[in-house]
Amino acid sequence: MRRLPLVFVVSLAALAIAMACRTTPPVAPQRVTQKLLILGFDGMDPDLVRQWVAEGKLPNFKALIERGGLYDLETTHSPESPTAWASFATGVNPGKHNIYDFLVRDTQTYLPDLGMVKRTPAKFLFDWIPLQRPKIESIRGGTSFWVTAGAAGVRSSILTVPVTYPPENVPNGEMLSGLPLPDIRGTMGTFSYFATDLSRYEEGNTEFGGILKRIVFENGTADTQLDGPPNPIVRQKMLALRAKSPVTDADRAELEALAPQVDVKVPMRIAWQRGSDTATVTLQDTALTLKVGQWSDWVDLRFRINLFIAMRGMAQVILLRADDDLQLYVSPINWRPEAPPLPISSPTAFAESLVKTLGPFRTLGWAEATWPLEEGRIDEAVFMEDLSRAFDDRARVILNRIDAKQWDLLVGVIETTDRVQHMMWRLIDQKHPMYDAALAAKYGDAIERIYRRSDAFVGEVLTHVDPDTAVMVVSDHGFHSFRKAVNLNTWLVQEGFMVLKGQQDNQRKLDDLFGAGTFWEGVDWSRTRAYAMGLGQIYFNVRGREGQGIVSPGQESVALADAITARLATLVDPDTGERVVQNVYRRDDVYSGRYLENASDLQVGFADGYRVSWQTSLGGAPAGIVYPNMKKWSADHGSFDIADTSGVLITSRPLGARDRYRITDVAPSVLEYFGLTPGPDLDGKSLLR
Ligand SMILES: [Zn+2]
Repeated sequence: MRRLPLVFVVSLAALAIAMACRTTPPVAPQRVTQKLLILGFDGMDPDLVRQWVAEGKLPNFKALIERGGLYDLETTHSPESPTAWASFATGVNPGKHNIYDFLVRDTQTYLPDLGMVKRTPAKFLFDWIPLQRPKIESIRGGTSFWVTAGAAGVRSSILTVPVTYPPENVPNGEMLSGLPLPDIRGTMGTFSYFATDLSRYEEGNTEFGGILKRIVFENGTADTQLDGPPNPIVRQKMLALRAKSPVTDADRAELEALAPQVDVKVPMRIAWQRGSDTATVTLQDTALTLKVGQWSDWVDLRFRINLFIAMRGMAQVILLRADDDLQLYVSPINWRPEAPPLPISSPTAFAESLVKTLGPFRTLGWAEATWPLEEGRIDEAVFMEDLSRAFDDRARVILNRIDAKQWDLLVGVIETTDRVQHMMWRLIDQKHPMYDAALAAKYGDAIERIYRRSDAFVGEVLTHVDPDTAVMVVSDHGFHSFRKAVNLNTWLVQEGFMVLKGQQDNQRKLDDLFGAGTFWEGVDWSRTRAYAMGLGQIYFNVRGREGQGIVSPGQESVALADAITARLATLVDPDTGERVVQNVYRRDDVYSGRYLENASDLQVGFADGYRVSWQTSLGGAPAGIVYPNMKKWSADHGSFDIADTSGVLITSRPLGARDRYRITDVAPSVLEYFGLTPGPDLDGKSLLR
C-alpha cells in the first residue's frame, strides 16, 4: 500500500540564497491622529466566547464587549484560515484574491499542490555555482488594507497574519510574515524524534510530518544525524538523471548513490547511561545537558549546501523519557529570524532588529507542535507546554511593536487558539470517538486555558495603549467537532459521477475497486464528471479546462450541479440517519472576480460533526463513505457550512445594527476609520456607518 505524501508539504526546493532587499518608495506621510489595534485569534469560536464570557472566565473580553460589542463574523467559502485571512486583508471574496483552499489543483494532471505560493527552485551551473535564486511568490491577489492605508500615510505594523508570506512591501509600515512561512525543509513543520525503543518498522517518515530514527547506545553514547534541508543541487542532478531517456544502468547507479545525499544533515551525539534521567546531547557544535521534561534553548544550526551556500536554522530539543529507554524530540528547524534563507519581513532587516531586543523567536508559520501529538510522539502535557511557548513568542513580538509606538494601525495574529481546538476538542466532546474520560479529567480545560490566555493578553495589551485607541478582536472562522470523516470521492464513485477503470456503470462492490487512496488511483477520466479535492471542494471535469475534461460548460454543468446537489441531500450517516451535508454552494452564487476560473464548481458545507476526509482532500478514494474520525485532530472548520462557522468580532466601540457582519467588511472599515474611501472593487462594506 502506497502512502499519501504529507498533508501540507511545501516542497520549496532550494531556499538557500537570500533575495535582494526591496525598498519602499518614500511617501510623504499625512498627519494621522487615529489609532487602531486589531488582535486576531485564529479560529476563536463565538459560541465558546459567549459561554466563557457568561461564566466570567474572560473578564477582559467582557469589558471590551461592554464598551463596544460582540458580533458573529461571517467567514468565507471555504471556512479556512488562508481563504478567510486573505479576505480579511483585502476586503474581497476569494474570486478576487485567488486563495480558495490550502491546496490548488493542476488542471492538466489533477494533482494537488500548496495553494498559497508559487515556487521556482534555484538553478545551478555545473551543479555548483548558483545561477538563479529560488523564488517564492504569493498567489494572493487584491490589495491589503495596510498597503492602501500605508500609501496614504498610515503607519502600520503587521505581525504574523496568515497569508503574509512572502512579506508584502508595506508603505510606511513593517511586516513580520506568518503562514505559510515554512521550516528549513520547506514544509509546514517537520519534527524529528529519536528513540531507543523504535522498531525498524517505525523508522522513517510519518504520515504527519515527522522523521523518526532509532538510536543505539554503545558504551553510553549514540551517534546519529539530524536531517536539515533538501540539497537543491543534488535534487537538480537527480531530476536531470530521471528525465534522461533512456535511463541507463549507470544513471540508475548514480541515482542510488545520490539518494542518501538528498538531505543535508548535521551530526548529533547523545551521551546517556541507562537509568539516568539526564542526557547530554551534542547537536553540531552545541552541547546540551537535559533532564527529562526539560526544553533546551534554541540551538543554532548551520547546514552547508556547498562552498557558496549554507543555510542557518534553529531548533529546540526536549528529553521526553530517559529510564530504561531514551526518547528525544527535536522541534521543526525554524529559519533564524536574523538570518533567514529568504526575507521573512519587510523591511528585510525588521526581523533582525526584533531579535536584538527579544532574542530568538519562532518563525515557522505553523508554530505549534500538532503533528507530533497526532503521531503520538509527544503527549498532551508536552503539547500544551509547546502551545504556550508558541503563544508567548507571538505575543512578545506584538507587545514589543505596540510599545515601539511607531504605528497608527497595528495588526497581530496568534494562531494557538486554532491549534488547541483542532487537537483537544476530543476532550470537551463526549460524543467524539476519541473522547477519553481520564485524559479529559486532566486536559478537558485545554481549550479554555488558551482562551483565558488570549483574554489575559488582550487585558495586558490594553494597558499598553492609549485609552482612545480603537480595538478590534477578530477571528477568521469558528469551530466544529469532527466526529466522522466523509470520503467524498468514494461517494462520487458510488453515485456514478466518478468512474474507476474497469468499473461497470452500476457496479457497487466498492471494496474491490479501491486502492490505498493515492492520488486518483485508477480514475477513468474519460468517464468521470466530477472529483473532490481540498476541504469540501468538488470540481467538474470540464472540457477545455481539465486535461481530460468531458463535461461541457453551460447547461451540462448546471445539470451536473443540480444532480450532485440533490444526491448530496440524501447522503445520511448510516448509524444515525442524520444528514451529513447541510448546504451545497455553487461557484457563481458565491464567488466573483478575475480568479473565478480557479474556483471549485461546488463547495460542500458539511453538517456539524462531519468533515471531508483527509484522503479526499488529497484526491484519494478509499473504501467506505462515512467513518469515525480516530485522529486526535478532532475538530475543524474547513468544509463545514459557512452558515454556522462564523468567527468572532469584538469591538471597543459599538457598531451599527445590521443583518450580517462579514470578514470582508473589516478592510473597508479600517480604511474608513482612517478617513480613506474604500475602492469600488471591495466586496465588504464599512461597519462604521
Ligand atoms: Zn484551523
